Amino acid sequence: MSLADVRHWVFDMDGTLTVAVHDFAAIRVALAIPAEHDILTHLAALPADEAAAKHAWLLEHERDLALGSQPAPGAVELVRELAGRGYRLGILTRNARELAHVTLEAIGLADCFALEDVLGRDDAPPKPHPGGLLKLAEAWNVPASEMVMVGDYRFDLDCGRAAGARTVLVNLPDNPWPELTDWHAADCVELRQMLLA
Ligand SMILES: [Mg+2]
Repeated sequence: MSLADVRHWVFDMDGTLTVAVHDFAAIRVALAIPAEHDILTHLAALPADEAAAKHAWLLEHERDLALGSQPAPGAVELVRELAGRGYRLGILTRNARELAHVTLEAIGLADCFALEDVLGRDDAPPKPHPGGLLKLAEAWNVPASEMVMVGDYRFDLDCGRAAGARTVLVNLPDNPWPELTDWHAADCVELRQMLLA
């Protein structure tokens, strides 16, 4: 299958469609999370009161970031190209769903995604778990093998592989995970050019 034949595209959001702005080290310090721990996994293991308070802090912090989101180079043109072809487009993010909507509005792409096809951390188990991707596959009535997961991090690629989907790595000049990657593009400008080639 060539990339241009893929009609079902799922995107990571932060760092993929937007310029990455999360300072995860600062978030860990603010929430007293050890440097080597995954933030969402760590919060999930805390007592309910503490987890709720820290989730609330995280949501406020991320809301500010979402309002100031900037599109990644070529991201708007890429998504508009795919939407213009009538392809089915989704978002699978470890961010909160309502903040995904805020972010898509901020970068001018909200009209390209159906509301129900934007999945946040409360809609599916967080990546690298494949649950969110499989949920979209079921909703779209398409085998995962006909979908592509586009992201800027290993979790996105692991998620795609675990679901049986194709994978695209963007926004890294070199690919540290070739065994997990079907296509690699330095940015969304290059990825769009691969589609048009
Ligand atoms: Mg990302």
